Amino acid sequence: LSVPPPLPRVAVVIEDDPGARDVITAVLVRAGFTCVVATTGTDGVQAVQQHHPILTTLDIGLPGVDGFEVARQLRSFSTTYVIMISVRDEESDILMGLDAGADDYLVKPFRPRELRARIGAMLRRVEGGRPPAHHWPAHQESAVDPPSVPPTENGVGSGWLHHKALRLHPAMWLCELGGVPLDLTRSEFSLLRAVVQADRRVVTKHALASALRRTDPDGSATAFDRRAVEVHMANLRRKLDDRGGGSVLIETVRGVGYRLSR
Ligand code: CA
Repeated sequence: LSVPPPLPRVAVVIEDDPGARDVITAVLVRAGFTCVVATTGTDGVQAVQQHHPILTTLDIGLPGVDGFEVARQLRSFSTTYVIMISVRDEESDILMGLDAGADDYLVKPFRPRELRARIGAMLRRVEGGRPPAHHWPAHQESAVDPPSVPPTENGVGSGWLHHKALRLHPAMWLCELGGVPLDLTRSEFSLLRAVVQADRRVVTKHALASALRRTDPDGSATAFDRRAVEVHMANLRRKLDDRGGGSVLIETVRGVGYRLSR
């Protein structure tokens, strides 16, 4: 009997421009990823279905189906971390990308170290926890099944955080509302975790922007970063609302940020 090799880190690169593709794959390979390349949106969706990448880079300007539509399709079945890549730095484009389900964005032309920084931010976010179990392909599921943790009366000691009908396990990336698992992207989970961990304290958009990127909380968050927080938060609330819980769970503190509702 031999020990199975560690799971390969797979990334899907959806990019029709050969030059950009070379830069992206070179950075990913150096970061330890196995890359699957797709040059159209349709092939990209298929590649994600087939290879279950932890990370997907997605060009917006693609022949046929564009990157926004690809992001929406990916979100219907995958929680792969999506870095959207655009030639335009129009805020409206990028916010539309985040709204379609992207986790992060990068504007062309970019330096390899900028992409490395984005990948580093993603890896720090999954480090110490695991990606949502439903994201993993069926044949790997037994390897990532969370250990059974007997819940205690008040949740203390079990690792679970509770708020009303919501319960969340920060380290295991698990979240349930009314006992039913919630299907959140990593960005949405990071925001929800930050708000729940703060208990009733207000979490500023600035702090949430840092939580998304795992950057220095004293560092600067641009107006753009704060808008990105708003978009991800709106998506999160929509999912909570679908289960009848959004505004009941998280309240907006106008001009400042968010906190758990009473
Ligand atoms: Ca393109």
